[in-house]
Amino acid sequence: MYSPDIVGHQAIRQRLLERLQEGRIRGSLLFTGPDGIGKRRVALEMAQREICFRKTACGLCEGCQLFAGDDLPFELPNLLRITPEGKSGVIRIDQIREGLDSNNQPRFSRGVIEWAALAPAMGCHRWILVEEAHRLNESSGNILLKTLEEPPPDTHFILVTHRPEALLQTIRSRCERIPFAPLALREAWAVAQRNGWKDLDHDRWSALGEGSLRFLDEAVFRRAEAQVEAWIALMEGRPFGEAAGPLQPEKESARAQGEQLRQPLELLLRLLADLARVRTGETPTLAPWREELGFLATQSMDLKAPQEAVLQALRHLPRNLSPEPLLREVALSLVS
Ligand SMILES: [Zn+2]
Repeated sequence: MYSPDIVGHQAIRQRLLERLQEGRIRGSLLFTGPDGIGKRRVALEMAQREICFRKTACGLCEGCQLFAGDDLPFELPNLLRITPEGKSGVIRIDQIREGLDSNNQPRFSRGVIEWAALAPAMGCHRWILVEEAHRLNESSGNILLKTLEEPPPDTHFILVTHRPEALLQTIRSRCERIPFAPLALREAWAVAQRNGWKDLDHDRWSALGEGSLRFLDEAVFRRAEAQVEAWIALMEGRPFGEAAGPLQPEKESARAQGEQLRQPLELLLRLLADLARVRTGETPTLAPWREELGFLATQSMDLKAPQEAVLQALRHLPRNLSPEPLLREVALSLVS
């Protein structure tokens, strides 16, 4: 009954399936919840089910084969995908209006407006999936809004995001919000094991991932692990130049430098919240580092100032072009 490669979210998927069969999905949906828990996969399953010859997203028939593989096309018979592109990682206005046409490449997908104007496929819904919808900028968001308000018959938008607060309020208010919870830790770990993860890493992988699959890739996980340790070293008083290496953006990365700071900054917020927990006798969420946290909790470090510094830095991230001074400032707030 379900696509075999999706983990968890049974209740939401069941409810969406029933509503689809009863024709009770109207307008546009906004899937929210932590990064890396499978929201996009559930959205794809909705479209896949209707193309599936067995109407189950069986994963085996010719219809389902269209949805197989990691590099899914941008256009399928009943689906248009809009994804952020380029180093800036934004969804640009011409992606909505005219389709993808960056770097003078030939267009390989139509824009939302052109696609949505076509006649609906026979007997099934058409889906417009906006991945990482928080990466719409103000102008692309506003253009999208017009189509969102009056989508053509049987056409539905699914906007997927882990940062709904970064969406235009006007977009949020026109969508029905479907909140997703993290996976159970054992569900996430079962996927990790299938991907070759060993028990040795279980505690730290689960603590960092919090029921998501965003650390399935080992290099990504090791980096997060090193970032936690770098912040702890800085809080213990190690010099910035010695300890901050893993916090710095990678120059060769496909992602913008400022955006690469989001993860270490969010990890620092968790560490600070954990320190407050330890001080009141609670268990830290980053339990594998409880010994280091226990030591830091006995120091007279103020938590308010660094928390404010991190929140401030996160607010300025999208516009920040020089990550190093920003990191230094946050690091400084830890020891002053
Ligand atoms: Zn199928």
